[in-house]
Amino acid sequence: MSTNISTKIDIQKIAKSRISEVDFENLVFGSTFTDHMFECDFVDGEWQTPKIRPYQPLVMEPSSKVFHYGQAVFEGMKAYKDEDGKVFLFRPDQNQKRINISAKRLAIPEFPEEYFMDGLITLMKMDHEWIKPGEGNSLYIRPFVMATEPGVVASRSNNYKFMIICSPVKPYYKGEVKVEIAQKFSRAADGGVGYAKAAGNYGAQFYPTKLAIEKGYQQVIWTDASTHSFLEEAGTMNVFFRVNDTLLTAPISDRILDGVTRKSLIQIAKDQGIPVEERRVTVKEIVAAAQDGTLKEIFGAGTAAVISPIIAFAYDEIEYDLPKLENSYAQQLKKYVTDIQYNRSEDPYGWRFEVKI
Ligand SMILES: *Cc1c(COP(=O)(O)O)cnc(C)c1O
Repeated sequence: MSTNISTKIDIQKIAKSRISEVDFENLVFGSTFTDHMFECDFVDGEWQTPKIRPYQPLVMEPSSKVFHYGQAVFEGMKAYKDEDGKVFLFRPDQNQKRINISAKRLAIPEFPEEYFMDGLITLMKMDHEWIKPGEGNSLYIRPFVMATEPGVVASRSNNYKFMIICSPVKPYYKGEVKVEIAQKFSRAADGGVGYAKAAGNYGAQFYPTKLAIEKGYQQVIWTDASTHSFLEEAGTMNVFFRVNDTLLTAPISDRILDGVTRKSLIQIAKDQGIPVEERRVTVKEIVAAAQDGTLKEIFGAGTAAVISPIIAFAYDEIEYDLPKLENSYAQQLKKYVTDIQYNRSEDPYGWRFEVKI
């Protein structure tokens, strides 16, 4: 990967930036967008010349396949600014590869690596003023692809639109998170699309999550679809359990999203001497560990929050509280990752990617 742009991109700049209208102190996550968006259409069997133009509504046929069959995948990544105004992405190659893994599962053509990286870098250069320095401030980046061919016949689309839109965000804090372990509904099944960031995976979670919220839980911990006895993901995050001093997390499979945060945390934890086990984690062992006091922490891991500590979980209508720890793994690991992201520490893994403005 390099920051030299080799892709031809048709650029139309906004006449006047909207940035002065934005209250950066009171941003609602993912609801304000930067001046520009990246767009590239797949027609006649190939990706056309990419464009960057002012962020604006799209005009689409009501029969576009994405509206009827949900043929769409997305990514979530962030850009960070250090105190000197340098801009960084975190492991963008991982998101570039993953959107094509997701696309393949949904029969969407792969998006060329250099279009993805060059589009992203050009957009960052154009909209870098929307990235604010300071702990927790970042630019949330949403690449996505959708089926645009008109026609309600239920078959794979011939046309697609790939886009990148960007949203400035504040630190992601959801308050104290309590979760409910799924005993009826499922997020993903063997042979399904759980490992893909497919739009429909999220739509399908909203109803079970709504039921959990009505009971006072913010998220659902998803279990395996066939037996509901293995713990797999927390809402839209990967999930980690600390029993005694060992971290446990489910292994990657076709039901688990291969999170960039997850794999980064595993690497850091191992290198910091924390024992990590990637294996199937049973509901039974976690309930038993909660009862005998060996369960120390549960946290979700994902780009939006890096780590989201969980304070309690419910199973069989019984609520189990987690202890409040000083210097938890969640705090230590979050600091390690964010220090790399914000250029406050060495980057022994080469995960930081500077976008030269
Ligand atoms: C995106 C996502 C994650 C986290 O992935 P990151 O690359 O760490 O952001 C985990 N689980 C699900 C279901 C996801 O959609």
